[in-house]
Amino acid sequence: MTNPFFIGCHLSPSKGYLAMGKDALSIKANTFQFFTRNPRGSRAKELDPADMAALQKLLETNGFGPVIAHAPYTLNACSSTPRTREFALETISDDLRRMEFLPGNFYNFHPGSHTGQGVETGIEQIAQMLNSVLTKEQSTTVLLETMAGKGSEVGRTFEEIRAILERVRLTEKMGVCLDTCHIWDGGYNIAQQLDEVLEQFDRVIGLDKLKAVHLNDSLNDLGSRKDRHARIGEGHIGFETLSRVIRHPKLQGIPFCLETPNDLEGYGAEIRRLRAAFEEEP
Ligand code: FE
Ligand code: FE
Ligand code: ZN
Repeated sequence: MTNPFFIGCHLSPSKGYLAMGKDALSIKANTFQFFTRNPRGSRAKELDPADMAALQKLLETNGFGPVIAHAPYTLNACSSTPRTREFALETISDDLRRMEFLPGNFYNFHPGSHTGQGVETGIEQIAQMLNSVLTKEQSTTVLLETMAGKGSEVGRTFEEIRAILERVRLTEKMGVCLDTCHIWDGGYNIAQQLDEVLEQFDRVIGLDKLKAVHLNDSLNDLGSRKDRHARIGEGHIGFETLSRVIRHPKLQGIPFCLETPNDLEGYGAEIRRLRAAFEEEP
């Protein structure tokens, strides 16, 4: 049997979880991503188990792939400020507890910015945080996102991601989310050398750890370390390369999630275009 093609986009849970699933269905998405709480703040709404169960039902009935919860941007497990590190730990453990109401999905977070402490210390602190929140019982896979390398961001290189994974005890609970805009901005030339970049990923991290892809074009050029997303085909990576990404034999069956500047309708148009490209004869 061939792998299913899972494609979706970032959605807002502001009208509830079930409503978010219906939004996804309305644009023919069969995966999506959402923030667990205000992306720039810390407060999470009261948990509504019935709403989450209703979403879970919708996902199962409609053959969705795994969905991705995204941690807030403000979360930084390797800040030089102890209170910020503590907040990261508290937030992730609360989010993972909530995620058990949507069992078997993904929780993605930005490894963090070392804010002057150095990459080594950053890596240690991120791994330490993971070692204190991950549990054998959890059904959620936690994903480290590959970063653009803006400021003091940790996780620009595959080697840095591996260094974190190597230090985590419950590695079976961990995976990686590859963001096409971020790795492009980080210096990985997927336009000219997609096969080589994926081989490198496999050699350094292992493709078995690749659980999701954030499919974004980039407003900036290769190696710019900027992290500004563009719509598919409106940036420096281009439509042709991104359609090769979704069709790549080594990336079949994993969810692709758009984080492009779009409203629901715009996302729907991108999904239609990418589905058509996916189905095209080689
Ligand atoms: Fe992200
Ligand atoms: Fe991303
Ligand atoms: Zn980004």
